[in-house]
Amino acid sequence: MSFPPVERQLIVFDFDWSLADQDSDRWVFEVLAPKLRKKMKELKKEVQWTDLVAQSLKELHELGGTRQEIEDTLRIMPFHPAMVRGTSALKSRGKTTFFCLSNANIVFITTILKSKGLENLFDEIVTNPAEWDPSGLLKLRRRIDPSGPQHECKVGCSPNMCKGNALLCRLHAQEDEKLKPTTCR
Ligand SMILES: [Zn+2]
Repeated sequence: MSFPPVERQLIVFDFDWSLADQDSDRWVFEVLAPKLRKKMKELKKEVQWTDLVAQSLKELHELGGTRQEIEDTLRIMPFHPAMVRGTSALKSRGKTTFFCLSNANIVFITTILKSKGLENLFDEIVTNPAEWDPSGLLKLRRRIDPSGPQHECKVGCSPNMCKGNALLCRLHAQEDEKLKPTTCR
């Protein structure tokens, strides 16, 4: 594989339908609980997406869905082997910073990356926080807390995060004072 002669570069990835060949939020329910997936389609217009996934994860847990099942489902999600090869080869050259901006969540993303041997690919992942509680419930919440100040982006970002602002924060932290965003969260 040949690469252009660069000294340094930043590669910014979305996750669902870009690095990976599926949408992780939808995939989990399509595989494990088609009825919940159908309900999500119906509620999508009324409930903010991250809140809807969080609520659906609770319902899946109440129906007996386990952490193991969710993790196994994430590990078999479509992911092109050439993407693994390409990103790994580029990473190994040491000149590329990989940055992930995603509306999924940190547990889905890291579980999938680990299953592909890509757990060290990204220098930073900006997404919604999530954690397993001891009962096996995946507790997910918006990156931007709905009870606090909201982002002011007007280009159509979902309330849970502004990807443009997150990218500016990254660029600012990395190198360029001029790109200072208003707030970083
Ligand atoms: Zn935005």
